[in-house]
Amino acid sequence: MKELKEYVRSIPDFPEPGIIFRDVTTILQDADGLALSIDGLRAEIKDLEYDLILGPESRGFIFGVPVAYAEHKPFIPVRKKGKLPCETVSMDYDLEYGKATIEIHKDAIKPGDRVVIVDDLIATGGTIEAITKLVESLGGEIVKIAFVMELEGLKGREKLAKYDIASLIKYE
Ligand code: 5GP
Repeated sequence: MKELKEYVRSIPDFPEPGIIFRDVTTILQDADGLALSIDGLRAEIKDLEYDLILGPESRGFIFGVPVAYAEHKPFIPVRKKGKLPCETVSMDYDLEYGKATIEIHKDAIKPGDRVVIVDDLIATGGTIEAITKLVESLGGEIVKIAFVMELEGLKGREKLAKYDIASLIKYE
């Protein structure tokens, strides 16, 4: 079987000149790639005690839900502004390219809940930093943040230094 990194397609100048986009669709469209990514994420959290898995729209859903299902844990979606139907808390943040607002249902996390965050990729860490603030504003405790990929040069890990972070694939 190939290594997980071999399933990633790198696309220069997407979505803007100078950015190399790490494409996860080539992981997903191969059964071995998909299994390697989900099993890899599961291995990172197997010894933890936690209550729920949370993932941001949209690639955090793709990887977070199968992990939550396999571990028999609940999954909490973090969505872009205006998509969730019930009462929400929201947070603005900067992206590697652009700005965004994310929201979570207010009743999705209870005080004292131990939370694992799953996402496809950490770049600047801005997305996850905003999510950590949302989770903590609801009284949740973040016990692990697991990514498929990490762009080390953007130093997202430094922004999230107080958290336990894992990534299956690292790029400079
Ligand atoms: P950050 O907030 O860490 O700067 O940006 C991370 C988010 O942007 C991730 O949720 C990810 O989906 C998206 N992103 C940024 N660069 C890439 C990339 O090269 N490949 C993929 N798949 N997603 C990216």
